[in-house]
Amino acid sequence: MSPPVLQSLIAGRWVGSSAARGLHSAVNGRLVAQTHAEELDFGEGLDFARRQALPSLLALDYQQRAAMLKALAAYLMERKEELYAISAHTGATRADSWIDVEGGIGTLFAYASMGRRELPSSNVVHEGPATPLGKQGQFMGTHVLVPRRGVAVHINAFNFPMWGMLEKFAPSFVAGMPCIVKPATATSYVAQACVRMIEDSGLLPAGALQLIIGSSGDLLDRLLETDVVTFTGSADTAAQLRVNPNLVRRSIPFNAEADSLNCAILAPDVQPGEPEFDLFVKEVFREMSAKAGQKCTAIRRAIVPASQVDAVAAALRERLAKVKIGDPAVEGVRMGALASKDQQRDVAERLAQLARGNEIVFGERDGFAPVGEGVGDGAFFAPTLLLCRDAMHNEAVHNVEAFGPVSTLMTYHDFDEALALAAKGRGSLVGSVVTHTPALAAQAVLHAAAFHGRLLVLDREAAAESTGHGSPLPMLKHGGPGRAGGGEELGGIRAVKHYLQRCAVQGSPTMLTAITGEYVRGGAVREDVVHPFRKYFEEIQVGDSLLTHRRTVSEADIVNFGGISGDYFYMHFDEVAAKDTQFGKRIAHGYFVLSAAAGLFVSPAPGPVLANYGLDTLRFVNPVAIGDTIQARLTCKRRIDRGNRPDQPPQGVVAWDVQVTNQHGELVASYDILTLVAKRPEAEAAQA
Ligand code: NAP
Repeated sequence: MSPPVLQSLIAGRWVGSSAARGLHSAVNGRLVAQTHAEELDFGEGLDFARRQALPSLLALDYQQRAAMLKALAAYLMERKEELYAISAHTGATRADSWIDVEGGIGTLFAYASMGRRELPSSNVVHEGPATPLGKQGQFMGTHVLVPRRGVAVHINAFNFPMWGMLEKFAPSFVAGMPCIVKPATATSYVAQACVRMIEDSGLLPAGALQLIIGSSGDLLDRLLETDVVTFTGSADTAAQLRVNPNLVRRSIPFNAEADSLNCAILAPDVQPGEPEFDLFVKEVFREMSAKAGQKCTAIRRAIVPASQVDAVAAALRERLAKVKIGDPAVEGVRMGALASKDQQRDVAERLAQLARGNEIVFGERDGFAPVGEGVGDGAFFAPTLLLCRDAMHNEAVHNVEAFGPVSTLMTYHDFDEALALAAKGRGSLVGSVVTHTPALAAQAVLHAAAFHGRLLVLDREAAAESTGHGSPLPMLKHGGPGRAGGGEELGGIRAVKHYLQRCAVQGSPTMLTAITGEYVRGGAVREDVVHPFRKYFEEIQVGDSLLTHRRTVSEADIVNFGGISGDYFYMHFDEVAAKDTQFGKRIAHGYFVLSAAAGLFVSPAPGPVLANYGLDTLRFVNPVAIGDTIQARLTCKRRIDRGNRPDQPPQGVVAWDVQVTNQHGELVASYDILTLVAKRPEAEAAQA
């Protein structure tokens, strides 16, 4: 039976039945799949994304899209074994595929939960606070982030066909962009299996994710100002694509994650036998062997003190000699193959360049013999460790990336030289500094952060929980300056913001409230006979407000509060010392003011407010002295509908703006309180 012809998903149809190029198993060279010969109509794909997918996505809000992502992640997780089986053809071990398959699905989960925690139930993100632009406070300015109303094109590298696709898709989907994904051809059968699963799930709006098998043709030439392109791959391809005339003319954002010569530095304080020494060796070994070294974050340059290089080399040789290489299906195999024969050739060529003038400490001649049936036709490569003793003057070791299990040890004489060597990578995704000396870590980071997207400081304390040098994490930025492409991905919710458009907005507070969906002070408020805490979530509107009765603060309040809290700070209790402070007299505890304000605005009987789970942006703006009279204004600032969860009663999040003022109308305390408010019971809702 001939292997399947892969299909593209364009304009809601699977396209492709005639075979074009064969894609071979990295393990034994057998044909695994074939690309299709049919040409794709990218105009049709873009049109479908704009006309069909975009309106459906924008009919949802951030919360709803995040919830969809969570459902999708759960759906894929249930079917992960199918994906592992397909991923095995790429030469990946189970552990390697875990990064790709579960790492990818985990990133969907992560963006689902970050979206639900941090984004509003609308399509406007308010980057407040608003700033007054005039003396009366009736003209203000602020920033909003909104969906770009365009399409995201994601072009990926071959090494992590699932993770690479999903880590880009997740934030762009939450941001409301339909995506067109072009995986690298060599491993596109994995991406296709995943997209087919996603399509079959029926969980996403039609056209939210389209797939290109093979060439992206004239796609980039057809993009519009509202679109974005993200790219992961080699620096050469990035350099070529980022100057596409259409992208340049229309200022279409182009985010690049390119190859980089990442380093790990063994600091001069570390001696053989110390935990940090072993951690360094373990980390370099892991980055050489995991995914057969085909990680964009892998350690290509291991920078060690000249006095320690022999000990490090010996420890690495020992570990490398033990690693069993071959078909990952064979028991005990820890390192698989490169993704293709092309890669095998490419890595061999790069290694030859690196080896010129450098020593090979460990390589093919050290017992390289992959195990398994047919592995002679696979794309295996011997782990190879080089040693460069003159790295300040050898350019190749800082420039040539052999995208496989290849790493170069390089020596330094003092720490400044180590940091100078790190910088010779001209921008990297990640660097590690292994040290147990905080001052060295601080010195290294101050210098190296300018050249790196991420820095891992590794020592015995962090080791047990360290996620390792090579693992990008959804909550931390991935992407480095210079050679590494200059792009940024992941990094928490900021990844979603990369796919949104920021706009400065000016207007009156009332207008800004309506635009941002967040109450802006000075804007119109609505007062009602019903206390805001007696309303269900659905009944509360931004701007609903309560002005409380007043309360005069007495000395007894201060004394009682001191007794309850145990806070006898001189400013509240020592008349003499208080005279010398900037206030010139005793003042009430700030926390008393907070508590007294709560006493003013709560509605004590049981009601829809389920919990008060915190305060934000608290400031004690002016002192409250004995005899001052305070009053509070409570206004609904923000409401977020996170949908309903099976494990809790239906509820929403409401943030309340609180202003406490004195008898002169001056602000004395200012903060937001965060509450959970019940939704109206279904029976009542039905009657209403
Ligand atoms: P590549 O040759 O640059 O290809 C990357 C992607 O670009 C592939 O999808 C490729 O498609 C596509 N492509 C190539 N030429 C194109 C063109 N003219 N127009 C549109 N698309 C084009 O890189 P690779 O060999 O696949 O990946 C290995 C490299 O990626 C390594 O150097 C590695 O360091 C880097 N990498 C970086 C990161 C990161 O996050 N920074 C992650 C992984 C890998 P085809 O496959 O169809 O040619």
